[in-house]
Order: sequence, then structure tokens, then C-alpha cells
Amino acid sequence: MSNVTTNTAEGKMVSSPNKQPLVSIQNLRVWFELRRFGFGHAGWVRAVDGVSFDLAAGEAIAVVGESGCGKSSLMKSILGLYKPTEGDIVFDGTRMSEYDRAKMRWYHSRVGYIQQDPYGALPPFMTVARILEEPLIVAGVKDKAERERRIFKAMEEVKLTPQEDFLSKFPHMLSGGQQQRVVIARAMIMEPKLIVADEPVSMLDASVRVEILKLLRSLQENHNLSVIYITHDLATVSYFSERIFVMYAGKLVEKAKVQQLLRNALHPYTHALLAATSDPDADNATRFRDVPPGEPPSLVKPPTGCRFHPRCPKAIAGLCEKEDPPDFEPEPGHLVACWLYKE
Ligand code: SF4
Repeated sequence: MSNVTTNTAEGKMVSSPNKQPLVSIQNLRVWFELRRFGFGHAGWVRAVDGVSFDLAAGEAIAVVGESGCGKSSLMKSILGLYKPTEGDIVFDGTRMSEYDRAKMRWYHSRVGYIQQDPYGALPPFMTVARILEEPLIVAGVKDKAERERRIFKAMEEVKLTPQEDFLSKFPHMLSGGQQQRVVIARAMIMEPKLIVADEPVSMLDASVRVEILKLLRSLQENHNLSVIYITHDLATVSYFSERIFVMYAGKLVEKAKVQQLLRNALHPYTHALLAATSDPDADNATRFRDVPPGEPPSLVKPPTGCRFHPRCPKAIAGLCEKEDPPDFEPEPGHLVACWLYKE
């Protein structure tokens, strides 16, 4: 077993071999200032704390972790909604830190966003036709026939057909699965290069979860899309992700190919997540039967050393609570931030 430590504070970068990155996340920190009324600065919420990875064109990755691990803040910074405190996001060779308003508008046309709650994501007073037309109008597609052509095409791709049956409907007239198909069609309508999908099936009935995951997979393959799939549920990642990044308390603690991680998970936190996982069509009660003991730590004052040490059954006394582990590489391309894998 050959262990490889990194010599950078932010950890070793993993990339897909032989592929140019579409997105490069470089030592990203997203911290929010806490201010107490009358007393000023009261600390920082370290939501994302030194995250680095590359995402190739046409590649799908999953970022997995419990609520409060920082994955939503990571996602929002990739969407350009949160400004990084430190580090940068490079998209198609351009640095987001250098974007002006016009460039940010261009970026938003290249990135599609699929929300967790389709009903909350769709304006209740707009018809499907209007919902899908709006991004095209905002992007300056002036020709009405061209807008209609793209709306019909997007609806066909998400299998909302015949289109005429749905165009004049309002969101409340659709099932949860149909609402999510509208959200996906809206994300696809500008023909993006990158899709950020935030728990896209967690609020759907078990019967439609797999259908939506398969739909996302086929869109990714047909359009050579890069996808960042944010989820708490390891059971769903193998449907269309090639690599998994496990996130805990603002950091990526394990990065591997999907089959590598499912066959040989290394980090004690990943073991706990896997033990809590069942089929994607199971209900939530069975999915969380064995969650890691204790609560995720405060991101205002995270534990010293390894942030998982207060919950870790394998913590090494005198080391884990003091020293933050770097990334080790016990097998090629499989990185884990845990002292158990030090040579
Ligand atoms: Fe557990 Fe120590 Fe590994 Fe952290 S570094 S996961 S506390 S064994």
C-alpha cells in the first residue's frame, strides 16, 4: 500500500485522467461573518473550508454529506450566489473572481440549476410555457418561433409530451414528478455545459425517484454535460455519478470513483454514511436507521484536529484531536483525509 501525503494546505487535487477540466475549484473557502448586535464581529461560520477539485467536461460527480456539512454553501458558491472568502472557481478557463456583471450573466446561461423542491422552485402564477420562456427572454432570444422551438425541444427531452397538454398548466396542476421535469427543462433550456442538481429526487415519491435519476443520466450523456450532484444519500449516486466526494464539516474527507468508494470505503464517516443507506426507492425511515452517532459539529467552532474525531469510533488518542489529517492516497485516485491511512 503506497500512501501519498499532500504538500498543500488545501489537500491534493484529483482530476479525471486525460480530460480537460470544465470547472476547477481551487482552495475554496466560504465563510460567513457572525455579528452580534451592538458588539460587532462575533466569529465566522466556516461553511466551506479549503475545498479543491476538478470537474471534466461530460463528467458527473456527487458531493455527499449530512445536512449542515457545507455542501449547500459549496453549491451556491459554484452557482455564483455566494462570493468565496478565499480561493477561486475557474470555469472554462475563466476565473469567477474576475467576472463583471455581463460575464456573470454569461456564466449563468452556461450553468443550469435543479432545485430540491420543485413546487417551491416554480412560480405558482406562471404557466409551464411562461416558466420555460422566461430564461430565453432574459437571455435576449428575440425570435418567438425560436423560443417556441426550444421550449418544445426541452419538453420533449424531459418527456413532458405531448407538449400541448402541459404548456398552459400551472405548477399546482402537475404531479411532483412532472413539476421536477419542468424544473429540469428550465435548467436545460439555455443548453448549459454544467448542471448543479441539489437533492433533485429527495422530495419526490419513491415511485418517480429512479425515473428522474435515469432522465438526468440520459441528459448528461446526450449533451456531454458536466453534473455536480449534491445529496445526503449515497444510494442514488451510482445512477449517474462517476466520482464521489464525501463532505464533512466544510471539508472533503474522501474522494474516489464511485465503484472504488462503494467497494472499499476508507473514511470512518463514509462507513457510517454507507451503513445508513438503502435503496433509492425506500422511504426515509429505513434510509437513516444507522446514522453516525452524535450531531454534525458547529461550523463556528469546529473541533480541533480531525473534525470528525468527537464522533469517530476509530479516533487515535493524542493525534486525531490535535492534528488535521492531510489527504492520503492508499490506492491510485482514492484520497482520504484520515490518520488511519498514514504509512
Ligand atoms: Fe477518525 Fe482519526 Fe480518521 Fe478522523 S483522522 S476519521 S478521528 S481515525
